Amino acid sequence: MDFLRPASWEEALAAKAEHPTAVPIAGGTDVMVEINFDHRRPEYLLDLNRIGELSEWEVGQESVRLGASVPYSAIMEHLRTELPGLALASHTVASPQIRNRGGVGGNLGTASPAGDAHPALLAAGADVEAESVRGTRLIPIDTFYTGVKRNALEPDELIRAVHIRKADGPQQYSKVGTRNAMVIAVCAFGLALHPETRTVRTGIGSAAPTPVRAREAEAFLNAALEEGGFWESGKIITPAIAKQFAALASGACNPIDDVRGTAKYRRHAVGIMARRTLGWTWEQYRGAGRTLEGAA
Ligand SMILES: Cc1cc2nc3c(=O)[nH]c(=O)nc-3n(C[C@H](O)[C@H](O)[C@H](O)COP(=O)(O)OP(=O)(O)OC[C@H]3O[C@@H](n4cnc5c(N)ncnc54)[C@H](O)[C@@H]3O)c2cc1C
Repeated sequence: MDFLRPASWEEALAAKAEHPTAVPIAGGTDVMVEINFDHRRPEYLLDLNRIGELSEWEVGQESVRLGASVPYSAIMEHLRTELPGLALASHTVASPQIRNRGGVGGNLGTASPAGDAHPALLAAGADVEAESVRGTRLIPIDTFYTGVKRNALEPDELIRAVHIRKADGPQQYSKVGTRNAMVIAVCAFGLALHPETRTVRTGIGSAAPTPVRAREAEAFLNAALEEGGFWESGKIITPAIAKQFAALASGACNPIDDVRGTAKYRRHAVGIMARRTLGWTWEQYRGAGRTLEGAA
């Protein structure tokens, strides 16, 4: 196995163009597990750790440009206000050691349906900045996941950054695991309220071949909140609306039975998490200096 150690982003792109089968390594918390267990024996490893800019972020007017290798611990510490859903999801990843090494670029590279960043990215809205010697493109997160552990990257492309919409309202993340830490999700749910556009976005993890949005649930809730004047009044969402939202979220799952849980349990748990995250975010929204005239 050859170890390529580019000193700059341009060198990394050139190396990937020359060796499209080279496996990038950032934190290594997925790659090294695969190599250690002999699940993968790449001809080339492309070490991205000398490229400092991958560990930097910029907070812009509308979005945060998050370098591919920014570790979860930095997101938790520095971007809690701008990216609350992703910060909450980061908290649930593994242990402090893994959170200091692993990042969103690696999570996207692996594209596991159980990756914790995905539901938060889907709910917030994001674009993946992919680059090769041929140029740069922004891949909408909704089209990034193409199959079980497959993504939309071309063989010569690397992820440079992820552009994540800054929160304009409350966001929540919920994960079911067999214990409280160091656990891969049995299933997970992310929810973001977007009061500016009066929309709600969701993300479901580990309950379908890829991370997915619960689109019917979103459409139902968007219509119900609009028709009922909920955004203006900030009144409590009725149990009937919350129940239907949960049922539709549950219906968006296409899970399997595996060692971590049954398909039936996953569908059930996603419904529960959908209802809870809706309740939590809506309470936050109601509490954020809103006029509560007409509140139920
Ligand atoms: C003990 C343990 C517990 C874990 N628990 C969790 C958990 O709770 N939740 C969770 O989501 N994950 C978990 N993981 C998995 C892992 O930590 C995450 O997926 C993490 O985000 C990977 O980031 P990394 O930088 O270490 O990626 P790496 O291992 O370096 O890379 C992962 C994949 O992404 C590719 N890649 C990396 N950077 C780029 C780039 N810039 N461009 C293109 N491709 C790239 C690599 O080639 C590889 O295919 C766990 C891992 C371990 C070992």
